[in-house]
Formats: sequence, C-alpha cells, structure tokens
Amino acid sequence: MILRFALALVFSAIIPCVFAADIAAHKGSAQFLDGKIVCVSIFADDESSSWGKARVSPYAKKTVDYMKIATKWISKKARKFERKPEFVHDFFGNGGIFYRTKFDCDMTDNAIASKFVWRYIERAIDLGWIRKTYGTDNIFFVVFLNTGKKNRVHSRAQCYCGKSAYPYEIVYINRYVDGIETSPAAYAHEILHVFGAEDLYCADSLNNFPSEFVAYCAETYPNDIMFTINDKFRGSIYDKITNDFSDIDAYYVGFLSECAEVTRFSLHPSEHLPPN
Ligand SMILES: [Zn+2]
Repeated sequence: MILRFALALVFSAIIPCVFAADIAAHKGSAQFLDGKIVCVSIFADDESSSWGKARVSPYAKKTVDYMKIATKWISKKARKFERKPEFVHDFFGNGGIFYRTKFDCDMTDNAIASKFVWRYIERAIDLGWIRKTYGTDNIFFVVFLNTGKKNRVHSRAQCYCGKSAYPYEIVYINRYVDGIETSPAAYAHEILHVFGAEDLYCADSLNNFPSEFVAYCAETYPNDIMFTINDKFRGSIYDKITNDFSDIDAYYVGFLSECAEVTRFSLHPSEHLPPN
C-alpha cells in the first residue's frame, strides 16, 4: 500500500481544466466531469417491457433518489481532484429533461438499441433549448427500462468513440438484472463510463486490457467502482455507495494526466489526452 501511494505521488499530475476544455470536441456529448452536466432521462417502453399507462411511473421518484446518491458520490470523489461537477438530473425540479416514449424494438439488444435512441434524440429532444437553458454542452442521456426480474441483460453505457453517427452518450438502466434491483453504485459505474472510465473486471484485447492487469485489479482494487458494483459485505445496497475510486478511474475520466498502472501494464491512453 505504501509503495502504491508513493508511486501515485510520483505519477499523478492533475490535468488543468483549461487543457480539458481544449479537447472537448472529441469527447462526445458527455464531455467532462466538471461544471454543469445535464442528464436527460428517457423512460422507455419497448417490445417486452412497459412503464404502464401513467406518463410518470411511480418508480421515477426512486430513480431520481438513486441518481442523487450516484452523482453526489461522483462529485465528492471529483472534489479531491479539484473538479466540481454539478449534475442537473432531477426532472421533478428541472424542466425539459424528462421524456417518455416507446421504441419498437428490444431495447436490451445492444446491437440495435442505440440506433433507435440516437434517432429519437434527434427527433424529439430540443438540445438547443437544453443547452441554452442550462448553459452547458455537457449532456448525457439515461434510458430507463422497466425490465422484469427475469431479465439477465446488465445495465450498460453507450460511449462515443469518434466512429458512431451521433455523439450522444447513453446510459441504459435496466430496473432489474438477474432478479436484483439496479443500485445507485451501478448508476455511478455507468455514468463514469460515458466520461471515459473503463471496466477493470474483464480482460479486453480491443481495449488493450491484459488478463494480468485484471488479476492485479482483483487483488489491489477489489472494491473499486469500475471493478464491482457490490458492497463487500452487503451485496447491492440502495442508500449509499461504499465502493472506491482509484487513480486508474481518475486517469480515465480525465482527472489525472498520468497513472502508474497504465504505464506499468502498457494500457491504452485516456480519451482525455491528446493522441500521440
Ligand atoms: Zn462497466
């Protein structure tokens, strides 16, 4: 632990905000974990699930509570790196950020869901009004699906990598996964993804995450928010988040310009750094 702390001191350098602003154009719609950030909520029915006839489901209040826990936790972690994200997510108290729709497809199908959502955003959401009203270009979208307890598809994030047709970055929150209600920690995990954070629990040749690195994370950061969304003792919890936020996470969301583990394992660079 002492050695890692010492390494962190050597390698960690906080990226100045001015630098971050210069590269905003490459980040997709969720640009930086700093300043005003608008979250647009889309409660969607699809071919196999529905929120019922009411425009606002009774469950909507709970999602606002969970978003509050997740965004407060992220903001608290960010403050340690001199960042001050201000999330606008409560659609009961803020206009123009709640939408209700139906998609004629299976929204748990990763291969097609985002195409439907991107087109819906283009057609139905007045982003110019949102930008003007809230004074920010920093926007992401959360699609809430009323998946039943038999659903096995996990919540996930659609991130912009410069190749998709639209820059809109989307978090998909499935109400239940494997019979368990999706927790605030899962919300935080997926939100961090759209700002650049990477999964630490699976080897990925595409992302240049070798299995040795995943084994290292399992040993060193077993409670990291990008490694697990469960509490070590209580599993899923709903009134707070007890996970950790490592320097690896800080590096990939743009809080740090360097990270000891990224160098050590030759991992791919953060999207917040300019290409070599
Ligand atoms: Zn993930």
